[in-house]
Formats: sequence, C-alpha cells, structure tokens
Amino acid sequence: DGKESSDMRIKLEQNGPEVSRVVLGMMRSRDWNLSVKERRAWIERALELGLTTFDHADIYGDYTCEALFGEALSSMPAIRREMQLVTKCGIELVSGNNPGCTIKHYDTSREHILASVDDSLERLGTDYIDLLLIHRPDPLMDPDEVAEAFTSLRESGKVLFFGVSNFNISQFELLQSRLPFPLVTNQVECSVLETSPLEDGTFDLCRRMGISPMAWSPLGGGALFRGRTKRITAVRRELEALCRSLGIDSVDRLALAWLMHHPARIVPVIGTGRMERVENALEAMKIRLGREDWYRILRASRGEDVP
Ligand code: NAP
Repeated sequence: DGKESSDMRIKLEQNGPEVSRVVLGMMRSRDWNLSVKERRAWIERALELGLTTFDHADIYGDYTCEALFGEALSSMPAIRREMQLVTKCGIELVSGNNPGCTIKHYDTSREHILASVDDSLERLGTDYIDLLLIHRPDPLMDPDEVAEAFTSLRESGKVLFFGVSNFNISQFELLQSRLPFPLVTNQVECSVLETSPLEDGTFDLCRRMGISPMAWSPLGGGALFRGRTKRITAVRRELEALCRSLGIDSVDRLALAWLMHHPARIVPVIGTGRMERVENALEAMKIRLGREDWYRILRASRGEDVP
C-alpha cells in the first residue's frame, strides 16, 4: 500500500492538522449494521491503508454514530493516537435522543458548543477531538461567543483545531475576523455533480487563507451511480468513457481524482462502508489527470462547453 507516500497526507493549514488525503465519513455508519468486532476490523483496515481521519458529527445516525465508533475504539485505546477525529456541532434535531428540542434549528451559542463537545468526547470515548467544525451557518451566530468557546476548548485541550462547514465567504470571514487563530477548513458539498464552490469563491478564499477545503458527498451521495436524470446519466457516461480511454477501473476513482486535481487541494470525505470501495479512493490518489480530460468532466457536469 502507499502508506509511506507523503501524497497520502495533507496539512489543512500550515500549522496543522495533518489528515489523510481522503477522509472517511461516518454519517451513514449506523446503516452499515456492523457488529462491534466488524467495526474494529474496519477501523484497523482503514488505518493499515493509511486512511487515518474519520469525519463525525454529533447528530449522525440520530446521535448514535459517534458512540458506535467509540465502542469499537474502547477496546483498542492505543490506536487513538494514530487517527484524527473530526466532529461537528451546531445542529439540533427533534429526536428522542435530543430531549427538549421542539424544532430543528441551529445553535452556535457558547453553552451549546461546550456541551456538544463534552457529549461527543463521551460518545467517542476519547479525551480530545482533533478538529471541530461548526456544522452549518447559524443566522443567530455571535462570532465573539463562538471565539470564546473555541478558545476555551483549545486551552482545555479538548479540541486541537477548528473549522466550519457549509459557510459562504462572508460567514467564514466574519467568524475568522474574531478568532485569534486560523479556521483550518470549510467542509462543503462538492463533486462532479455539485461544482458551485469552484465558481462562487468558496475555494478561492480557502486558497487565499492557505487552507484546504473538505468536500462532502464527493460521489454525489451515491447519486452518481444510482441517479437516472438526464444530467446525471450524461455525467456518468462521460466518466465511463474517460475511464475506458485512460485505463481507469471505476467511475468513483475518476470522480475523486477530478476533485483532488483542483489546486485548492480539496480533501474528499467519502461515505462508503465497503472496504473495497474505500480502496478505490487510494487508487484515485495515484491518477494524474490532464487539463483537457479535467475539462471534459467539467463540461459533462455543466452540460455544455465553458463559455
Ligand atoms: P459519497 O461518498 O458521495 O456517497 C456515499 C454513498 O455512495 C454511499 O451510499 C455508498 O454506498 C455510495 N457509493 C459509493 N461508491 C459507490 C459505487 N462505486 N457504486 C455504487 N454506490 C457507491 O458521500 P456521502 O456519504 O454523501 O458523504 C460523505 C461524508 O461527508 C459523510 O459520511 C459525512 O461524514 C460528510 N457529510 C458532511 C455534511 C456536512 O454538512 N458537513 C453533509 C453530508 C455529508 P455503499 O456504502 O454501499 O458503498
């Protein structure tokens, strides 16, 4: 495997954190229905492959996914230091697992952020989180309060680094302007089916700040394979044709390579539970795309040539 290769890791910001070039998303992990033994084996295999970064959120699996992961981790505490745990806070779901919440909403108050981190630490069975993201922009956000919460989490050692998710440029700049240290990423939706951050300035800002964005649903949440619309079918056909001409084994490899080719050094957060598909992501890291082939995929996504 390519574990030794420096291409396998990336610093989101010059002072860290260092994550694997592809991150494993845990949002769907409850649906994988793995026994605790299988979950342990899954985590161990991922680490063996050099995929060391796991993306969580408090709410995944209706507040259950972190605990499933933590349960697997608890029997092998030594490997905690070999991995990076990302989690998120700020969304409140109406759920039996979130008593007292009567409407889905966002909460970026200091009190909520601190309580959410304590809950995540407990569920994950760890005493620190590598990277905490504010999950969604909250119109009621007080950036000074978020800064206070982040600073206190950093000082207590509960969280090492901070970032945001689904923030537009001005939301990012507002929060950054009140923080004494850099936000290290903005995790946004991006794939061959969702290219807006390439065009709306989101990735330009990341490049200006010297940070790497993370891309969620880098395979369209599976729509790239399952989608039956005219547009998705056309994109899939183009990817299949290019795979044949370039000698690439699968569409997912090419779609991930297309993202990673972008100079913003986009870090895909993949959502599969199947180890053979996780391994496709490793192959994707090795693919070098030419400019014209990259544009062929962009054209398929746009449905027409660039202007
Ligand atoms: P994704 O990788 O685009 O989609 C995963 C889905 O695609 C799974 O259902 C998977 O099914 C299917 N799939 C993957 N490869 C396939 C193939 N070769 N053929 C057929 N189906 C295939 O990503 P995602 O799960 O939507 O999101 C990834 C992660 O991003 C999440 O786990 C979460 O950590 C993060 N996320 C963040 C936000 C945010 O707001 N920050 C929002 C959404 C997601 P199998 O499992 O059967 O392979």
